[in-house]
Amino acid sequence: MAAGRSAAWACRGDSPRRTISQKIRRNFMPALLKMVAKGLLHMTRGAAECVAPWDRLWDRLSLRESAGPGEEAFAVDALRLSTLRWTSQLFGFLVGRGGGCAALIHPTLPQTPGRRVDKRSASTVSDLPLAELQPLTPSVRGGRSVPTPPLSLRWRRVGVILPLLMLVLTSAPCSAATLPQTSAVPGGIALIPLGATPPGTVRFEGGPVMVLPDAGQYWAVVGIPLTQAPGEATLTLPGGATLPFAVATKDYPTQSLTVPNSHHVNPTAEELVRIRNEASALRRGLDLFSADHPAFPLAMPVQGVVSSPFGLRRIFNGEPRKPHSGLDLAADEGSEIRAPAAGVVVLTGNQFFNGNTVLLDHGQGLVTFYGHMSRIDVKVGQAVVRGQVLGRVGHTGRATGPHLHWGVSLNGVMVDPRLVTGEWR
Ligand SMILES: [Zn+2]
Repeated sequence: MAAGRSAAWACRGDSPRRTISQKIRRNFMPALLKMVAKGLLHMTRGAAECVAPWDRLWDRLSLRESAGPGEEAFAVDALRLSTLRWTSQLFGFLVGRGGGCAALIHPTLPQTPGRRVDKRSASTVSDLPLAELQPLTPSVRGGRSVPTPPLSLRWRRVGVILPLLMLVLTSAPCSAATLPQTSAVPGGIALIPLGATPPGTVRFEGGPVMVLPDAGQYWAVVGIPLTQAPGEATLTLPGGATLPFAVATKDYPTQSLTVPNSHHVNPTAEELVRIRNEASALRRGLDLFSADHPAFPLAMPVQGVVSSPFGLRRIFNGEPRKPHSGLDLAADEGSEIRAPAAGVVVLTGNQFFNGNTVLLDHGQGLVTFYGHMSRIDVKVGQAVVRGQVLGRVGHTGRATGPHLHWGVSLNGVMVDPRLVTGEWR
């Protein structure tokens, strides 16, 4: 059987398209099978991570690796591509990205059925609408008959499609490389497609939201407050048009903590004045919206253990308080805290609850927060590069032991930091 298949492929060797198909078979299929295997592995763990495999898949489809100059859009097996587009659309629907992953597969062009591909003008798949790629099933293209693929090939396609579908149906939220991961829940991030033209300033709850280009279109990257009621939320576009999006429910667990200094649970009137002033300064920093483009994914600022996740409903000394608005990373006192991305220091100081605190502005409403530091090594106005030391881990302020409280704010609301680091689990 194998020999028969080899002969079938060999006898098509005189066609440039077949040569390219062979290249794809050689380069693309192992990567795809590896991806499927990884997906199945994730399924057994009850988690999946689609970012890297989908990006690799896109690399393959766009022929960055598998084609040389002049090997163009027809090189891609259109049936496989259509299948991937379909699964990606289903994927986008299931994860609420409105076909976001579909954009990953065919980033730029609208569907215009009936038109033929002009091979001379198309340089990569991303230059072509999917509908313009003709399937490999019996058809006549340019006066030449295109043969039906052998049955074994069809079965191989089924073998590829079914695991892909399973991967799609069981995957975690999807993301492209330049965007954070999406989880449209209170405390999460919604990625909302805005089309291929620059949309201008998009607002959520009156404030501007991050807009980033990715995969041929623009995306609103919206931080959803922990206090947001599940249901429909609305973006406002320039000109006043609105764009609704869905916010799902998320139940965060409860944690009880005992803090030795009871003032950190019930401050005095004098302390309350200080707390309000510090909160105002923090609010001004978190509400900044500068023009810089942040680079996702962010790095983890500390090599530590997550001692308290984002969103926990917290009870201090038996009394309920605000939910945990950051990620606690436990590490040895004095461990280095490094900038997770380039930014500008916009606040430093010692605060009642947060102890020694730093705020970093990364641009477009992305501001990161560092609390309980034992030492601060940067100054307000200083530009820092990714990996630069900001200070050291400590337990100043309301802390039960040495750790970094790392907060990530997007359009002025605290969101789960794991969504911006690509370490979603
Ligand atoms: Zn914390």
